[in-house]
Amino acid sequence: MQTQAQTHGKQNLIAVEDAREQVLSLVDVLDAEEVDTLGSLGRILAQDVLSDIDIAPFDNSAMDGFAVLTGDFADAQSPVQLEITGHVGAGDWPEHPVTAGTAIRIMTGAPMPEGADAVIKIEDTEIIEGDGLIGSKVAFPVPPRKGDNIRKAGEEAKAGETVLNCGEHVTPAAVGLLASTGHGTVKVYRRPRVAILSTGSELVEITEKPTRGKIRNSNSYSLAAQVLEAGGIPLRSPLIKDTYEATEEAILEAARNADFIITSGGVSVGDFDYVKPVLEKLGKMLFSAVNMRPGKPQTFGAITTTGKPAIPFFGLPGNPTSTFVGFETFVRPALLKMQGATELLRPTCTAVLAHDVKKRQGRRYYLRGTVELQPDGTYAAHVEGSQSSALLTSAHRSNCFIVLPEGLDPAHKGQEVTCIRLDMKEGVA
Ligand code: AMP
Ligand code: MG
Repeated sequence: MQTQAQTHGKQNLIAVEDAREQVLSLVDVLDAEEVDTLGSLGRILAQDVLSDIDIAPFDNSAMDGFAVLTGDFADAQSPVQLEITGHVGAGDWPEHPVTAGTAIRIMTGAPMPEGADAVIKIEDTEIIEGDGLIGSKVAFPVPPRKGDNIRKAGEEAKAGETVLNCGEHVTPAAVGLLASTGHGTVKVYRRPRVAILSTGSELVEITEKPTRGKIRNSNSYSLAAQVLEAGGIPLRSPLIKDTYEATEEAILEAARNADFIITSGGVSVGDFDYVKPVLEKLGKMLFSAVNMRPGKPQTFGAITTTGKPAIPFFGLPGNPTSTFVGFETFVRPALLKMQGATELLRPTCTAVLAHDVKKRQGRRYYLRGTVELQPDGTYAAHVEGSQSSALLTSAHRSNCFIVLPEGLDPAHKGQEVTCIRLDMKEGVA
C-alpha cells in the first residue's frame, strides 16, 4: 500500500480542457432501451421515428365557421348570401358536398366537405334568416381566398415520413409527435447508473445530529441531485470510513453495479486520503490534479480489474463547492455523452465584471456568480457571497461560473469575463 508521504511534492497540474478531453474519450454512449412514450421526455432518441399515417389524416377546418366555394364570390358586389345545407363537427364525416349557392356549417378539426375550398370564420358572418344552423340563410361580407382556414392532410407528416431523428432530444412537443404517430413506446439511450461514494470518517447520515468532530454527508445528496439533473440514476452508497480496506471494498462493490463511479473526498494529500492508491490498485489513474480553483485534486481513471469493461471513475474533492464545480466541469459532460448527447458543454456569455477580484493563485478560477442582462443589452457579472470551497450557499445563489484565466493578474471592475451559464442547457445558443 502506498503511504501518503510518497505523494508529497509538487503535483502535475493539467489544464481543464485536457482533463475533460481525457474523461470524454474514456466514456461511450450506452446501449438503448425501450421506454414508455412519456418516459422518453428529456432522453435522447436511439431510433428514427416514422409516422404510420398522414398527420392530419384528412383536410380539416382551422376555424369554427362555414365551408364555402370561392367560386360563389367571384363577381359579387355586395355580401354573398348562402343557404346552410349541413352541419359538421369534429369527429363527424360530411354526408354531402358543398354545391353552388350553399355552405356547410363546420367546426374546428371537422373534415372538409367535398367541393368546399375555403372556410369563413363565424365572426365574419351575419345570420339573415334562421338560427345559423341547417336551413338558415347567412351573409358573408368578407370574400374568401382559396384555401383560407383549411388545414391540409399530411401537413405535419406524410405516412412513412421521418418526424424525429435518432440523436434528437425528446421535448414535450416531441412526446406529442410520438403520440400522434402511434408510438406507445420508443427506443432511447440508457441512463447511466452512477455510484456515489462519500468517503470520510467525519461523516454522519443527514438525519443525525453530528456529535463532536462529525459533519453531515451533504455531498452524497448534492451529487445525487446533480446526477439526476444530468439524466443519470444515482446509486448512493453507505458512508465509507477513511481506511484503505473500506475504500477498496466500496469501490469494488460500486464497480459491480454502476456505469460510472464518483467518490467525494479522500483524493488530496491528507494522511487518510485513500482513494488514489485504491484506484491505482484496482485500475488506472489518468490524472489527479487540475489547474483550477476550487477543486485542484480532481482525480480520474478507470476500474479495470473486475472482469467487466473498464468503468470510468471520477474522484471529486470533498469540499462541497469543489465537488459541485468538479461534477459540473467533468462529470456532467461525460454523463451526457453516455446518454447519446452531442452538445456537452453549457453555453457561455461574455459579461462585464461588476467589481474587482483579486487572484491569489495562478490556477483558473471558477467563481460562483450571477450574470444579469442589463437594459443596454450587455451582461453584468457579480461574484456571489463567500467563495470558500467549504460553503454551498454561493453555489446555490449563483446562475453561472465566472471564469478567470490562469495567471496572477487580478480582474478589474469593468473588465470582460466569460461566464458559464448554469441556468442554460447544453446546446442552447
Ligand atoms: P477531503 O477531500 O476528504 O480532504 O475533504 C475536504 C473537506 O470536505 C473536509 O472538510 C471534509 O470534511 C469535507 N467533506 C468531505 N466529504 C464530505 C461530504 N460527503 N459532505 C460534506 N463535506 C464533506
Ligand atoms: Mg476526507
